Amino acid sequence: MKSLRDLYKIGNGPSSSHTMGPKKACELFLNRYPNCDNYTVTLYGSLALTGKGHLTDYIIRKTLKNVKIIFNLNDKMKHPNTLEIEGFLNDKFVANMTVYSIGGGAILVDGDKEVLVPDIYEEKSFMDVAKYCLDKKIDIPTYIDIHEDNNFNEYLDKVIDTMNKCLQDGLTKTEVIPGRLGLKRKAKELFESKINDSILLEQDSKRLMAYAYAISEENASGGVVVTTPTCGASGVLPAVMFYLADIYKTPKDIMRSGLKIAGLIGNLVKQNASISGAEAGCQAEVGTASSMAAAYAAYIFGGDIKKIERAAEIALEHHLGLTCDPVDGYVQIPCIERNAVAALSALDAAKLALYLDSKDAKISFDLVVSTMLETGQSLPREFRETSQGGLAKHYNNGDKNAC
Ligand code: SF4
Repeated sequence: MKSLRDLYKIGNGPSSSHTMGPKKACELFLNRYPNCDNYTVTLYGSLALTGKGHLTDYIIRKTLKNVKIIFNLNDKMKHPNTLEIEGFLNDKFVANMTVYSIGGGAILVDGDKEVLVPDIYEEKSFMDVAKYCLDKKIDIPTYIDIHEDNNFNEYLDKVIDTMNKCLQDGLTKTEVIPGRLGLKRKAKELFESKINDSILLEQDSKRLMAYAYAISEENASGGVVVTTPTCGASGVLPAVMFYLADIYKTPKDIMRSGLKIAGLIGNLVKQNASISGAEAGCQAEVGTASSMAAAYAAYIFGGDIKKIERAAEIALEHHLGLTCDPVDGYVQIPCIERNAVAALSALDAAKLALYLDSKDAKISFDLVVSTMLETGQSLPREFRETSQGGLAKHYNNGDKNAC
C-alpha cells in the first residue's frame, strides 16, 4: 500500500478522477516532454461522457497551452477513465502518453516502468494489519506512524485545516452552484434550521447533514477539498469528524489518529478493490467514504481494532451495489445529498458495531471489499459514471418536477 498522503490529496473539486488525475497527467507530460508547443488530448470512457460536467476540459486547458481536446465517445479503452496526450513541436509529433485516472486523483501511465508512488506498507489486508498490530501490541495509529515519514502529522494538520476551511466556507455561502442544473446551496439553510428544532435528535442530525452539504457544495463549485477518498465523496468523513468534535471536543491529536484509521480503511479499498466511480460505481466512492467515517467514529467512541473493523465493514456492506449516475454529468445530483445520507449511516454503523458482539461477526471487512469489487465490475457500464443510466437517464427523459 502507498502512503496515506496519496489518499488524502488536497485540491480543487469537483472530481478527483476527472480533474485532479487529468491535471496530474498533463503536468507529468509537460515534465517529461518540455519542448512541445501544442497538444492534443483525447478523452475516453467516463472522461469523455461526463468530462464537461466534471470540468475535465477546463482543467486540461488550464494546464496545457494550445491544446485541442477530443471527446471520443466510441472507442473502448482498457480503463474507463483513459486520456491520451500527444505533444507536437512546430506541428511535428514529439511524443504521446496514455494515462489512466484510477481514482482519488491517482494516475497510472500505460507501459510505464517507473513507479510514480512507491508502496510503503507490506500488509495487504485488514487482517494482515490487525495481526501486525496484535503481535506488536500496538494500535492502528501507531502502525501508521511506523510507516509514514516524520512530517506526516504536520500534513494531517494541513488536511484538518483544509477540511475545516471548506466546511466554514460552505456554511456561509448561498449562491447557486455553477452548472446547468441551477441547484441552490442548502447547507446554510439546513444548519440554521436546526436552531428552531425542539427535538435534540433532529438538531444533531441536521448539523451532521449540513456539514456534509457544506463540503459537498463547495466541491461541486470547484472549491478546495480533501479527497476522502475522492472529491465526489469528500463531504462524508469531515462531516462526521467535525460533528463529533462539536460533541466530544476532540483534540487535534485524536483527530489525527482518527484520520490515520479512516485512511487505512480507504487505502485498503483503493488497493484491493477500487475508489473510482467509473470503475465500480458510487459504492466505491461514497460507500468507501462512509466506511472510513464509520471507522473514525468507532475510534472516537472508544472502539478497539475489532470494533473499528466491524464499523467499517457494516458501512461498506450496506452501500454495496450503489450506482453512479450523476445528472448531466455534474457532481451535484445525487452526489451532494448522498454525502449527507452516507454521513448519517456511517455514524449508525459505528454505533451498531459498538453494540454488537465482535465474536459473532461472520463477515470481515476484507470480504466486503472483494465483494464490492466484484459487484462493481458486474454493474452495467451505464451505472459507472457515464451519466447514461439511472437518475441521469430518467431526469433527461422524463418529468423533472418533484411534487
Ligand atoms: S454518484 Fe457517487 S461516484 Fe458518481 S459522481 Fe456522484 S459521488 Fe461520485
